[in-house]
Amino acid sequence: MVETAKSETRKRQPVATGLTGLEQIEMGANRIQVDDKRIINCRADLNQLVPFKYDWAWNKYLTGCANHWMPTEINMSADVALWKSADGLTEDERMIIERSLGFFSTADSLVANNLVLAVYRHITNPECRQYLLRQAFEEALHTHAYQYVIESLGMDDARIFNMYREIPSVSTKASWALPFTHSLGDPKFKTGSFEDNQRLLRDLIAFYVVFEGIFFYVGFTQVLSLGRRNKMVGTAEQFQYILRDESMHLNFGIDVINQIKIENPELWTPEFQKEAIELIRQGVDLEYQYAKDTMPRGILGLNAAMFQEFLHFIANRRCNQIGLPDQFPASQNPFPWMSEMMDLKKEKNFFETRVIDYQAGGTLSWDE
Ligand code: FE
Repeated sequence: MVETAKSETRKRQPVATGLTGLEQIEMGANRIQVDDKRIINCRADLNQLVPFKYDWAWNKYLTGCANHWMPTEINMSADVALWKSADGLTEDERMIIERSLGFFSTADSLVANNLVLAVYRHITNPECRQYLLRQAFEEALHTHAYQYVIESLGMDDARIFNMYREIPSVSTKASWALPFTHSLGDPKFKTGSFEDNQRLLRDLIAFYVVFEGIFFYVGFTQVLSLGRRNKMVGTAEQFQYILRDESMHLNFGIDVINQIKIENPELWTPEFQKEAIELIRQGVDLEYQYAKDTMPRGILGLNAAMFQEFLHFIANRRCNQIGLPDQFPASQNPFPWMSEMMDLKKEKNFFETRVIDYQAGGTLSWDE
């Protein structure tokens, strides 16, 4: 009897840090109130989606579902004919297509693994987890899209998928991101202490703000630019759908970062802000290196110097979105058409303004 009473007591004791959602169900416990919900280190039941506290997360889940698409719905026949023609594309154009596929085909898997194996465990809120489940599926769709393009064009798939091990400018971006996922993926890692909470916040900045918010932008611009010139239109359309999803991933990540800051203001120290700025600056440097490596000569009316300006413009925006000052004052967007293509105008998050112009249907408009 004594043993039973002891183990009952042990089971009912609250744990020191956030729950996972797989703990024992406690019959007769108090009902979950909205105020019990916390974005990290929550001690309330994580299996109850409602009542909502973070409507922005639920709304992004709904928008992600409204934007559903499949890579196989996009007609690739024009791309196949152009890719196989002897003189339809220059060598430089072929290189940027291959390098983009080489980077993204593995990068989106890396993001998916980080989400499912690391981030999901530590975000202790059902609305946010609902979006993370949707995002994880979208990352799978993106990897599927790259595989579908590679297969359609009859490329050497082993060569493309190995580029992130074999081509330095592709490899360095993936290598930069990996350390940020190691500690969070460690089964023994738990948030709760000041240092560990900061570690989670740092990982989120690295993945959402730098990896998805900066590292995707040169490759996307290059491929969409080809599409604007009526080349590789199927591939460009795949990329445009991916980019629409990615804008939402980035917005969600920024909202999560800002919510963590609101609930844990002690984490946002001047030293930590400096670190965040340094991560963003490193991201800009690596992405600019990628632009130079993939465009040794000017191409498509684009050149590496224009990308430097573009990356400075994007980096300022990323800084502002998480409450940091401009790092590259007076930089302008040299690709105004990209603002439309990349949905920059819709790239708003809850803490800036309420989004009123979300995509309502599942298809894209190609009007410019
Ligand atoms: Fe993503």
